[in-house]
Amino acid sequence: MAEGKGPDRGIDAARVAGLGEALAVLTPALEAFVRRRAGADSGRGERLAALRTPLPARGLGSAEVLERLNALIVDGLPIAAPGFMAFVNSAPPVVPSVAQLVAAISAPSRWWSSPGAVLEELAMSWLMELFSWPTTGAGSLVSGGAVATLTALAAAREAAGARQGVDVGRDGVAALEKPRIYAGDNVHGVAGRALALLGLGRRALVTAPSSPSAGVKLDRLMGRIDQDRAEGCTAVAVIATAGDASTGAIDDLPALVAACRARGVWLHVDASYGGFAIDDPRVAPRLAALAEADSVVVDPHKWLAVPAGVGAVLVRERRALSAALRLPSAAYLGGSGGESPFDLATGRPAWTPEHSAPARGLVVWAALAEIGRDGLRARVSRHLDLARQVAARVQREPSLELAADPVLSTVVFRARGPDRDRLQVAVVRAVRARGRVIPSLTRVHGAPAIRACFLGVQNSEADADALVDEVLAVLPGLTEE
Ligand SMILES: *Cc1c(COP(=O)(O)O)cnc(C)c1O
Repeated sequence: MAEGKGPDRGIDAARVAGLGEALAVLTPALEAFVRRRAGADSGRGERLAALRTPLPARGLGSAEVLERLNALIVDGLPIAAPGFMAFVNSAPPVVPSVAQLVAAISAPSRWWSSPGAVLEELAMSWLMELFSWPTTGAGSLVSGGAVATLTALAAAREAAGARQGVDVGRDGVAALEKPRIYAGDNVHGVAGRALALLGLGRRALVTAPSSPSAGVKLDRLMGRIDQDRAEGCTAVAVIATAGDASTGAIDDLPALVAACRARGVWLHVDASYGGFAIDDPRVAPRLAALAEADSVVVDPHKWLAVPAGVGAVLVRERRALSAALRLPSAAYLGGSGGESPFDLATGRPAWTPEHSAPARGLVVWAALAEIGRDGLRARVSRHLDLARQVAARVQREPSLELAADPVLSTVVFRARGPDRDRLQVAVVRAVRARGRVIPSLTRVHGAPAIRACFLGVQNSEADADALVDEVLAVLPGLTEE
């Protein structure tokens, strides 16, 4: 038990009152963090190492812990900062951040008829509207693209079983005849892991080549499906990618829809990154086909910029999803009349493999409500412009070359010079050390390339220019020796 009874101590060791005061301790540092630029992180390593202390027997008390929290804010990842263009992550602006706090405090779960439950349903219906999905589809918010992919593929597996008269959820995957999943080699790594978790096995994933501008080579992919089927394999699903995390490439979704329909194969689209670009005329012709897919994953914690931990999964065939996620009612949640605990919330099953879960709908709702569909479109268009701005400058610079034409908000390019592969690695390292902009490194056609992905809401034309300026600034020092 903690010692004494300060103003923050009641019957429990944890403080239960004085929320405003606690926030006041943290607000200045949080404000400063939100305003900071990328910058180099001096001394961060030591400060982080100092955090590793043994489990205290006697609690430190709320004041001390708040002080420590306050001190570590400065070392947070500068994802929100203008100039951050690595990964495919964004950081939340003010309203989604605060909504997360509201959800944590007042809506600790999405069960029962709480705002959390109602807003999850509303947020899902808004997402379905954005993607022109039939309201007869089902969907839910889960922790991110990885779990959303797992969920969608579980439904696809269930549907493949149903076509063979097999209940996979009940009898297991062994009942499926040589299951295969098909994708371009641009498919995100979470797909293979989902197959491992679903018992289908990573080797069930069959890939066809893809190009960084045009996506998967359709003939090659369909050729494999037809050949495997002739050999008795079960085509469980095709996974298309709408916004590959490395280059932003989008597979030819309209052609994939037609080819999968013709073969009666489930089409899953990983639109974790690209989905929210649906209203931009440059990519809309491809993304409009999301409406025809059997399942889609899109990540609100990317372009919609809600706090990390929110992915959305949409599944056209409710039956397949509910069969995959069937849950017996829990005795300890009795007295409320529903079949499963989730019935208490909406009168419908929850379309998620999770059980207790945060009220993510509240956060997604807040983000969409704040900026609206127009605000989202403007954000996406600005980011697509920035990628093209960098590409145009790269093409004008004799010492640089484009590795692929930008499709979404990602641009990949290379510095010219001796020992080319090592040069790209060195350039990215040197640019990041200076701290003005934070690009990342990727591989395009098997070789290293400099990559910038514009998702951060604060990135501007000045940051896009700074990326090229910084590369040009470090280049002479790296090519001279
Ligand atoms: C980010 C991403 C994922 C993984 O999603 P998480 O939200 O990080 O779990 C999968 N596919 C693509 C294309 C992505 O960009």
